[in-house]
Amino acid sequence: MAQSDVDVVVVGAGFAGMYLLHELRKTGFSYRVLEAGDDVGGTWYWNRYPGARCDIATTDYQYSWDPELHDQWQWSEKHAAQPEILRYAQFVAKKHDLYSGIEFNTRVDGAEWNEVAKRWSIHTSTGETIICQHYVMATGCLSVPKEPDIAGTEKFTGNVYVTGRWPHEGVDFTGKRVAVIGTGSSGIQSIPHIADQAKELVIFQRTPNFSMPAFNGPAPQYRVERLKADRATYEHEARYSGTGVPLEDSTVSALSVTQEEAFAMLEEAWQKGELLSLGNTFMDSAINRKANDVVAEFMRMKVRSVVKDPEVAELLSPYKHGYGTKRPCMDTGYFETFNKPHVRLVDLNTQPIRSITETGIDFGKESMEFDAIVYATGFDAMTGAIVNVDIAGKDGVTLKNKWENGPLTYLGLTSVGFPNLYMITGPGSPSVLSNMMVSIEQHVDWIRDTLVHMREQGFETIEPTPLAEEGWRVHCTDCADITIFQEANSWYMGANVPGKPRVMFPYIGGVGRYRMACEEVVAKGYLGFELGSGDKKQCNDGLVREVQPDVDMVLDFISTLNLPAMETMSPTEARAFSEASSAMRPSGPEVGEITDGVLQGADGNLEYRLYRPATPGPHPIAVYFHGGGWVFGSHTSDDPLCRDLCAQSNTLIVSVNYRHAPEAPFPAAAEDGFAAVKWVHANAAALGGIPEKIAVAGWSAGGNVAAVTAQMARDTGGPQLSGQLLLCPVTDGSQQHASHRENGERFILTKSLMEWFWNHYATPDQRKNPQASPLLAASLAGLPPTMLVTCQFDPLRDEGNAYARALMQAGVQVEHVEARGHIHTSITMVDMLPSGAPHRREMARALRGFFN
Ligand SMILES: Cc1cc2nc3c(=O)[nH]c(=O)nc-3n(C[C@H](O)[C@H](O)[C@H](O)COP(=O)(O)OP(=O)(O)OC[C@H]3O[C@@H](n4cnc5c(N)ncnc54)[C@H](O)[C@@H]3O)c2cc1C
Repeated sequence: MAQSDVDVVVVGAGFAGMYLLHELRKTGFSYRVLEAGDDVGGTWYWNRYPGARCDIATTDYQYSWDPELHDQWQWSEKHAAQPEILRYAQFVAKKHDLYSGIEFNTRVDGAEWNEVAKRWSIHTSTGETIICQHYVMATGCLSVPKEPDIAGTEKFTGNVYVTGRWPHEGVDFTGKRVAVIGTGSSGIQSIPHIADQAKELVIFQRTPNFSMPAFNGPAPQYRVERLKADRATYEHEARYSGTGVPLEDSTVSALSVTQEEAFAMLEEAWQKGELLSLGNTFMDSAINRKANDVVAEFMRMKVRSVVKDPEVAELLSPYKHGYGTKRPCMDTGYFETFNKPHVRLVDLNTQPIRSITETGIDFGKESMEFDAIVYATGFDAMTGAIVNVDIAGKDGVTLKNKWENGPLTYLGLTSVGFPNLYMITGPGSPSVLSNMMVSIEQHVDWIRDTLVHMREQGFETIEPTPLAEEGWRVHCTDCADITIFQEANSWYMGANVPGKPRVMFPYIGGVGRYRMACEEVVAKGYLGFELGSGDKKQCNDGLVREVQPDVDMVLDFISTLNLPAMETMSPTEARAFSEASSAMRPSGPEVGEITDGVLQGADGNLEYRLYRPATPGPHPIAVYFHGGGWVFGSHTSDDPLCRDLCAQSNTLIVSVNYRHAPEAPFPAAAEDGFAAVKWVHANAAALGGIPEKIAVAGWSAGGNVAAVTAQMARDTGGPQLSGQLLLCPVTDGSQQHASHRENGERFILTKSLMEWFWNHYATPDQRKNPQASPLLAASLAGLPPTMLVTCQFDPLRDEGNAYARALMQAGVQVEHVEARGHIHTSITMVDMLPSGAPHRREMARALRGFFN
């Protein structure tokens, strides 16, 4: 192996660098820890503006790795102020002799990877180059203040302050005319303090922010008691929680309660003065705009109740972004400050700053003179400190160039082309969306364990694979896509820095789920990483997360219920079980009208439910067949999906309760399906439909009925159909397709449940009949235009795919959607799984297209 000066170079001595230093010593690695500042503490070293505090309670925002600290250090407040947190960092550094291991006043300016030597060269501001095997950026997510992009900043001759680089000796604003530009967290924390001193204070606001009072005081007693009773469990819960603080996940939708009830629940969370409690009151405020509006309106109501001038209150009330989609703030007397006679709010949307001048600020039609300007304009978050260093990886490609269109990482820890480079709380990890102490410790532990593993196994390098990195990018995007975070122009989205790509920088899938992914990667032999040393290579390539994140959560939830497998039930029990589960789901969107009726089936009357669009008719009609394996379900059992299709496609949906097995086995369902289509065609006008515009649609076994019905209509002079919409259809009773093996367990519809369905419906011989297995039809030519949706993790995927291919080969016009990351049931789960919504939109669009 090539020689290094040290095993590991660590950049940064905030909480991340400090803990890593401790662990490197413990595990016997040689190291250099380089820090630009002249003390430990990072964030809490630099951000000395008045009012700077942590928003996460000190019961949670502290190290867990040294249990002695819990007795040796007592926090004076629930939300400790910056000086106390800095003292804590210094206390830890002294206790563990970390000072002796850190080189202060040393900035890292550049680093490059030597592919021959398999070593990093690290260049410092002191002119030194250090050769190391591993290079860790513990440089912080919020450590590079954003340069204010305002004309004339350099002209001002008064005092200028930046909250993220506050003078160590403090600032006295007594008797001064002060301007504060920016109302993010730092502005909101500092403004009340500056107002207490200043003669005149003008606050320039571009975007109002949600903020709640911290109600600071002693640490929350209920958390203290839980910690005292069982610290290990508390910390475990924090590590596997959504945000790094133990909180019971809400199961209440903000839309399922009245506004009065919702406000009462929010008031309870508000009174706790805990940032995360408020966002956790409802299960859907991060994913559903209407649910979020409930929380947002509660917050606006609070602003109105404090700020006396209604116009100012309105300006301070956020409308353009949802609660939580920009970092919500905690304050002490922020809104009250605007009632003071010497404080003025300027709305930059109506009175933009024209220029900073020598003596003040020109804005709107006004000019004002100031003695001091405070820039509380935030940070170049998440990536700023990393790309500030000129890091060149393999082939000289710089990380800055690689990340031009958004950061690409595997797990937010590593990046392709940059072997042995690690980022602590990097983009693509929960980082700023978490209690960062928990996230920092997890990353340090992961890096330490990886270095030890490599040393023990004789590996010199580690680098993620392109497949794994791309898979993680897709997963991160999937997580963000199901939320409403992307609607906001937030620093989470890079929107505060001109020219920064607009992507979701942190991982929003949750601290616990993220941790489990990291653990799984290791357990699977460093899945998605290539480890190497000379000729020795290990690469277990693959994707750690493929199922859509909301689907994954549902699967996890179901697994905690220990439900009996349906195939162990009798058909009667299975029907009761299915009905009980359906009763708990959201109802789906409103439609114009819903009526129930009876139609003529193949052997007697069948119930149907009709969903009429709210627009004037007559409408095209889709005859819909429900899922349920031919055994259970009814004309009402796919109610939310039928409503959704009706509302989105402007089509009249007639959902048919065809006969069920085992009482009415094959071919009863198929014959009823065909009879229903004929009846609907004959009665279309009376139903308010257009007889020439009839399609069939169905999900699962209902997709089978729809496909078979379309063949019967073609073969036996039935009505000419405009199209068939098949969602995860059963097309082949042989069950020999690879997806049955690949997806036969875990994903709700299992292989054995599918067998149970078939056993009730059709004998092995009957399954060879095309009216049971439409894929086996002699010809598929002449069938109507088709929209066929298959799901990646459905056992039925490949038989659906085969049907789509066979239809295309037969010259049928086919649109085939392969729903990535979905399971058999997920697309039907309207208003529960946001990731299914785009596919339902596609289905509705296809349905409309059939009739045009
Ligand atoms: C005002 C404010 C309030 C916050 N409140 C909370 C909160 O309530 N809860 C929470 O979880 N998180 C909060 N955070 C986030 C906070 O950054 C983290 O909690 C945590 O302190 C980060 O620790 P770190 O060691 O990863 O990074 P930092 O503390 O940022 O430390 C990084 C260090 O790296 C050094 N550095 C950077 N680049 C270089 C270089 N090129 N060469 C040498 N040294 C370099 C910096 O000088 C800095 O000391 C807050 C952040 C801010 C700014």
